[in-house]
Amino acid sequence: MKNDGNPLVRYAVSINGIVQGVGFRPYIYNRAVEFGVKGFVKNAGSGVVIDAEAPRQALKSFIKEMVQAPPPLSQIEKISIRRQEVQNFNDFKILESQESDQILSFIPKDTAVCEKCLKDISDESSRWFGYAFTNCTDCGPRYSILKKLPYDRCNTSMDSFVMCEACSAEYNEPSSRRFHAQPVCCPECGPQLQLLNNLKQELRGTAVIKKAVQLLKAGCILAVKGIGGFHLMCDAQNAQAIEALRSRKRRPDKPLAVMAKDMAAVEKLCEVDDAEAKLLQSPASPIVLMNRKHDCPLPKQIAPDSSKLGIMLPYTPLHHLLFKEGMNWLVATSGNKSGLPIEYQNDEALKHLSDTADYFLLHNRDINIPIDDSVFKVFRGQKQVSRAARGYSPLSFNMGAVHQLVALGAEQKASVCLSKGGYAYMSQYMGDIKNPKAYQTYKKVIDNLIMLTKTSPCAYVHDLHPDYLSTRYAMEQSMRKIGVQHHFAHMSACMAENRLSGMAIGVIYDGTGIGIDGKVWGGEFLVGNLEGFERAGQLSYMKLQGGDKAVEQPWRTAVSYMSQAGIKDWGIFKNINEYALETVQEALEAGLNCHETSSMGRLFDCVSAMLGLSHSISYDAQAAIMLENIADYGINGSYDYDIYYTGKCLQIDFRRLLEGILRDIRKGRKAGEIAGLFHNTAASFTAEAVEAISRQYGIRNVVLSGGCFENSLLLGLILDRLECKDFQVYFHKLVPCNDGGVSFGQLAAADSMLRR
Ligand SMILES: [Zn+2]
Ligand SMILES: [Zn+2]
Ligand SMILES: [Zn+2]
Repeated sequence: MKNDGNPLVRYAVSINGIVQGVGFRPYIYNRAVEFGVKGFVKNAGSGVVIDAEAPRQALKSFIKEMVQAPPPLSQIEKISIRRQEVQNFNDFKILESQESDQILSFIPKDTAVCEKCLKDISDESSRWFGYAFTNCTDCGPRYSILKKLPYDRCNTSMDSFVMCEACSAEYNEPSSRRFHAQPVCCPECGPQLQLLNNLKQELRGTAVIKKAVQLLKAGCILAVKGIGGFHLMCDAQNAQAIEALRSRKRRPDKPLAVMAKDMAAVEKLCEVDDAEAKLLQSPASPIVLMNRKHDCPLPKQIAPDSSKLGIMLPYTPLHHLLFKEGMNWLVATSGNKSGLPIEYQNDEALKHLSDTADYFLLHNRDINIPIDDSVFKVFRGQKQVSRAARGYSPLSFNMGAVHQLVALGAEQKASVCLSKGGYAYMSQYMGDIKNPKAYQTYKKVIDNLIMLTKTSPCAYVHDLHPDYLSTRYAMEQSMRKIGVQHHFAHMSACMAENRLSGMAIGVIYDGTGIGIDGKVWGGEFLVGNLEGFERAGQLSYMKLQGGDKAVEQPWRTAVSYMSQAGIKDWGIFKNINEYALETVQEALEAGLNCHETSSMGRLFDCVSAMLGLSHSISYDAQAAIMLENIADYGINGSYDYDIYYTGKCLQIDFRRLLEGILRDIRKGRKAGEIAGLFHNTAASFTAEAVEAISRQYGIRNVVLSGGCFENSLLLGLILDRLECKDFQVYFHKLVPCNDGGVSFGQLAAADSMLRR
């Protein structure tokens, strides 16, 4: 024990970051054994504590190894080391933690199957050979099966499966990769697959996976239960199957995600750069939006409006097994009817998807919390989240928040955000909560996050829109309420994620959100910090006739806007009958069902409709996506517009822009060129307005937020113009720029307001 030449040294090491529920303790145990270190490791607070005793050199190597090559899912944020008096430990132990010790700052996330487990399922001699639920400490379901903390098997939906002897031995063996892997199981003791037709009759006889693949190859649509819910899957090369899926799901145009067998199969479809490849293969395994190759072998119907494809790799053992039978690409879209949330329970899925799917590939491991696939894209080498969900949510962010709050988000693309112990926890995307089922999930996610983080909120933070269900939820609470204006929440989200605390100019381009004057905002230049803002500029108000109908049918927006620009050339709307055109004009003149709006989203709709791209839409932002898609990227020049002041508020009047577009349409100029010039114009008036506001307020920091910045062309053009004028420009990477990020911004703003 006493090493004469090498006296013992003892350190107390405490580590914070993502170190719980990611196999950190068994990893430390194994390194300790390897380096001859004695002492113990245990979970404590929001991190891990190690008491380590060994000769100095061994201890140094042990710590160096831990910092340089930690387990794959871990992330060390802070490490502190204190020298202690030598204890003469006899061995190295993993000590059990008390429940009171566990204040998780990181809720474990669902993780794609790891390389080692993949080897197990393809190794005929392994007891996991061909097993669809193989997992270990480095991979598998987590958040979606978690009912409460601590993260132990009895608190997950694996509690109904009793471990067999072999699994139990692995679970208790510190040197095993499955030591304390809560969902560990095997074909003897774990969940099983089941294949049913849509009359709930079980298909027996042939091995389930082989049979499922035969059905897919024959053009059938399968509902396949995954980690966070069901996918609807079909052969991505079979145009007929895709058409059938679209019509049954009532989703005529919205892009469908594709699951590709491996990287080689992805590269046949899209141009893939290094950052995109890395993202595709990351443990979160999200859908990545990438540029489709000209010779992409998949039918156009996968994404008819877009030059981009959303692709993911297989992320569960089941997915990998499906691809072992010779297919390269599967459509893998959320298992729901259009507008409804993703199905995640067997009974409900069988009920609601029986006229959409021909067959159901089910299993008996329950999903506790539904969670869609995450969606990312890469912009100038950096990843940007568009839909925060499986593998990414709940997002823990060290915001330094002082108060315990619950922020309730917007309504479409709902999410919620909690704060506790300085951290903000943003939930997954939950779709449009106007739908009762989505609203049910929304309430469950709030309760679940409050329980997991042990938050006792002192206030609920909500949007100013009185009719949003999220606002109504706040009003039902007996606690203090704080309202945060929608676009200020967008701005705050961008400031908080970029850790910007001083004054900034927020350029917020969005669809709709209620303003402090009760009008519909969405093309805003806000000046402020997290504590508050003033409106320094805006797209000039335009009257919009038709309410929600105008959002669904962009030609109505075009008629409203063109009328007010005095350019009544209805000849460009070839597919709209005269009666409908006249009705809108008359209602507009009479002021019937009209409201004023400064929305940038509506301006995109208007131009898209003028170019004949989208007279009516079937999914959110379709008109803008089509306009971005056809735009000629290289074109120079822009249309005219006017900038002037009303009081202190700068106004961008785009009526001359519409005149210019109409002139070009009449001349027969290519739609792609006009769309390109329109994007240039939007960038020009943005830069000019920012410069004017900057002169007025003496501020050089600019944040870009709001749903319109999903448009990479617009983001890039604005970024270039502002950066070449030496502005410090910040945009979103970690938090969505769309309404999915509103809860995060509400929380940051409310915490600052309360501090003041
Ligand atoms: Zn694994
Ligand atoms: Zn077992
Ligand atoms: Zn918004």
